[in-house]
Amino acid sequence: MAIPRPLRALAIVTAFLFLYLVFQIFRRAPSIPGPGDLEQELPNEPTLEDTGEPPEPLHRADEGYAADNPNSPRINATLLALVRNEELGDMISSMRDLERTWNSKFNYPWTFFNDVPFSDDFIRLTRAATNATCNYEVIPEEHWAVPNWINSDLFDESAKMLEEQEIQYGPLVSYHQMCRWNSGMFYKHPALKDIRYYWRVEPKVHFFCEIDYDVFRWMQDHNKTYGFTINLYDAPQSIPTLWPETKKFIAAHPEYKHENNAEEWVVDSKRRPEHNMKANGYSTCHFWSNFEIADMEFWRSKAYEDYFEHLDRAGGFFYERWGDAPVHSIALGLFEDKNKIHWFRDIGYQHIPYFNCPKSPKCKGCVTGRFTDGERFLFKEDCRPNWFKYVGMD
Ligand code: GDP
Ligand code: MN
Repeated sequence: MAIPRPLRALAIVTAFLFLYLVFQIFRRAPSIPGPGDLEQELPNEPTLEDTGEPPEPLHRADEGYAADNPNSPRINATLLALVRNEELGDMISSMRDLERTWNSKFNYPWTFFNDVPFSDDFIRLTRAATNATCNYEVIPEEHWAVPNWINSDLFDESAKMLEEQEIQYGPLVSYHQMCRWNSGMFYKHPALKDIRYYWRVEPKVHFFCEIDYDVFRWMQDHNKTYGFTINLYDAPQSIPTLWPETKKFIAAHPEYKHENNAEEWVVDSKRRPEHNMKANGYSTCHFWSNFEIADMEFWRSKAYEDYFEHLDRAGGFFYERWGDAPVHSIALGLFEDKNKIHWFRDIGYQHIPYFNCPKSPKCKGCVTGRFTDGERFLFKEDCRPNWFKYVGMD
């Protein structure tokens, strides 16, 4: 029996549509897990196994960023470390790793900061750990001191509450000072006046992968503001009023919000609703700032300066335990173009207890894709899947 013509046409169109759909599904099948996959893996399947696969474009040495490329002049940048004299051994260990994997090829200067003068030993032994220039800077009193509008009785009371809630370092004044300095002071130090980009390095961190390109110049040429390796949830008890204060600030300055911002990432409440609730509207997801490669122009902008000033006056660096990580992250998430924030998936990194460990023959000493070598419950602290979901992998 002959099939009527219109039906035949319909069957052909349907078949084509079906084939097209199948083609699209296969074409889009991710070689690395998408945010949804990662979400399902957590917390039962404690691995990000393939997120670290280095895509071809990461061989940036070929793009003119190699150390021996005469057309690759060093840019205006420094490695930057706030560190105590007592941490000398751990600082040298971080330096060895970063010199071996990267800086011995590029020789960017190191700039060390301290609230007290560096000891002779510190200077002698850190100098010996690099061929690059080293600068040793004392932080001016007015950048480090607890501001005069902070009430010490109220600080003591708050410290007790933080301690009851098991917030690490709650009662330690110097930790609050450090967080405030890293949030809004470091880039104002006279020694950095003419410097634009920095790579923050802490004592006792590890770098696992050979990096063959000038990371600073790559940031500059690609117009990036901020680079990170790890995205984490924060303890909401350390920042209950950070988001409410931010909302007040934004209400007064709606003009500071970037039209292509990452606000969805900042306020996500789906993945970890109880964190968002306790932080009063902030997901608590932040760039883990013990690693940051960034352009200080952003911190020096009017928007950030006004934001920091607002937060500083609100007192949460002392009455709560606002970290520089959530402060930097919220500011970047609201005031910056999200495409100017870059995940350095190719930089293998560890600060206890978390890793960024790519899958690459260039990496040694870490387990590919492993997020933590700590207890199992730590796996749920990874919030990179949210960054990938709202912003993407670059
Ligand atoms: P954590 O990473 O949050 O556990 O805190 P750390 O103890 O590692 O401190 C963060 C950074 O600030 C490290 O580079 C420390 O060396 C530095 N730091 C913390 N407190 C002080 C301080 O009182 N003086 C100086 N000079 N550096 C500090
Ligand atoms: Mn640390």
